[in-house]
Amino acid sequence: MSETEKKFCPNCGSEVKKTAAFCPKCGEGLKGEKKPKEVENKAPVRPEPPEPHYNSRDFDVRIPAEYKPISMWGYFGYTLLFAIPCVGFILALVFAFGGTPNINLRNFARSQFCFFILVVVLCLIIFLISAIAGAALYTSMY
Ligand SMILES: [Zn+2]
Repeated sequence: MSETEKKFCPNCGSEVKKTAAFCPKCGEGLKGEKKPKEVENKAPVRPEPPEPHYNSRDFDVRIPAEYKPISMWGYFGYTLLFAIPCVGFILALVFAFGGTPNINLRNFARSQFCFFILVVVLCLIIFLISAIAGAALYTSMY
């Protein structure tokens, strides 16, 4: 075989016959023409969804009310609100059990509610320990 009868595939670099219309390895067209089948397989270009721009003004508009993020001042305000004795507890209770359509606020209220329970339980434990200690002290004195 002479040199002129050989050429190389421009796609994968494998040696192919000069007369070959397509590369036997990768199917690349060697005479300026392409296999219709390969062209189909080589174009899996999926249209990328547009990047959401989080800082834009219409971000709030596109998001349904239930998924709207709470702003930094929103969190600050709600934290203050929930910190009010009795009133805050009732508000957290209302928000935690569907008083708001917003999932973020509901979850925040639920976490606050858990915090309230934790505080109540801790207070009870401290009260019980001091009561037991007080009783023990009382009985030891007499
Ligand atoms: Zn090839």
